[in-house]
Amino acid sequence: AKQRGRARIEVFDRAMHTQLLDRVETEQSLRRAIARDELRVHYQPVYRLGQPSPVGVEALVRWERPDVGMVPPDRFIPLAEEVGLIIPIGLWVLRRACRQVARWRAEDPRLADLRVSVNLSARQFGDASLVASIATVLEASGLPAECLGLEITESVLLDDIDATEATLRALRALGVRLSIDDFGTGYSSLSYLKRFPVDEIKIDRSFTAGLVTDRADLAIVQAIIGLANAMDLEVVAEGVETDEQLTRLAELGCRLAQGYLLAHPTPPDQVIALLPPEGAP
Ligand code: C2E
Ligand code: CA
Ligand code: CA
Ligand code: CA
Repeated sequence: AKQRGRARIEVFDRAMHTQLLDRVETEQSLRRAIARDELRVHYQPVYRLGQPSPVGVEALVRWERPDVGMVPPDRFIPLAEEVGLIIPIGLWVLRRACRQVARWRAEDPRLADLRVSVNLSARQFGDASLVASIATVLEASGLPAECLGLEITESVLLDDIDATEATLRALRALGVRLSIDDFGTGYSSLSYLKRFPVDEIKIDRSFTAGLVTDRADLAIVQAIIGLANAMDLEVVAEGVETDEQLTRLAELGCRLAQGYLLAHPTPPDQVIALLPPEGAP
């Protein structure tokens, strides 16, 4: 038994070793990803129900890693957060997205009022230069502040409540919009709504997924929409995949939606092709 135990430990060691090498390697290549121009931003349209052109887009980062292919954010954002790389990466995404959306607004009448949402991680949120960086990016891109939305999850709001509140107010003073992402999945979503100056909540896609089939999900979505409307907040349903979900959301008074049914995250050069013919409303 002892022998088998030792063998198992060796196997385990080797697996750990490979994993560690993998991590170190990934971290090193991620460090060079910006300079080597391997990061991409895809844009997922957000629609006001009944309108053919999107009111906004969410910027979603991808890593086009040589010899590996397109790496989704779930596979490198956690590492980037852990080692601090999320600060330069996040700033790069922000700059790229603001510049792109300013260009679309100027060049296409169907996108003249387009807004953009960018995801912020907890680590970025704790960075003392965040507010100044955002102001600089806005200035350089020419994008009006009210056209930029910052999406934060409840984990960001958990860290240091007073510091968080101060940062949120400073961001608000810049004129940018604040959204709570994945709303309803955290522990204290409701108290945050009262304490923090948010403009929008995004219903987590796990609730949208069960909307038509699960009474609890329906009740939760209904409550979130009611709350948002009563508090004059915008509410976006995430992860809409079926017509039934969309119809149900409209009946419940949700006016903004995002999901594979409407449009997938899309590379910037393919966004125009998603729009209704020019001249249509
Ligand atoms: P998120 O902010 O909740 O973004 C929505 C995710 O849901 C995206 O995954 C999107 O592709 C996916 N999605 C959209 N519609 C549907 C649908 O109808 N069905 C399903 N099943 N999924 C849908 P993605 O692009 O893989 O991003 C995953 C997460 O990575 C994001 O979740 C966000 O937390 C994070 N992330 C992405 N880009 C950035 C970034 O630039 N900075 C930071 N800090 N995090 C980012
Ligand atoms: Ca988001
Ligand atoms: Ca989300
Ligand atoms: Ca998420």
